Amino acid sequence: MNTELQEETTTRDLDLPGACVGCGGPLAARFSPGRAHGVCFTCHLVSELGLARSAEGVQLIQLPRAAA
Ligand SMILES: [Zn+2]
Repeated sequence: MNTELQEETTTRDLDLPGACVGCGGPLAARFSPGRAHGVCFTCHLVSELGLARSAEGVQLIQLPRAAA
């Protein structure tokens, strides 16, 4: 019935201190199945986050988009 609640449980939120490419502030990353994005509440920069597998493990790649 409540699909919104179900969707909420499949996402993972993560705070990335100093990860914002716009202002160097904390980035709130939200992971959902198949995609991830980060939002900075200081400068409102929204960036697409990509996960790339490398020899060292999984890397988080930030792909900045236009600021809101
Ligand atoms: Zn920022």
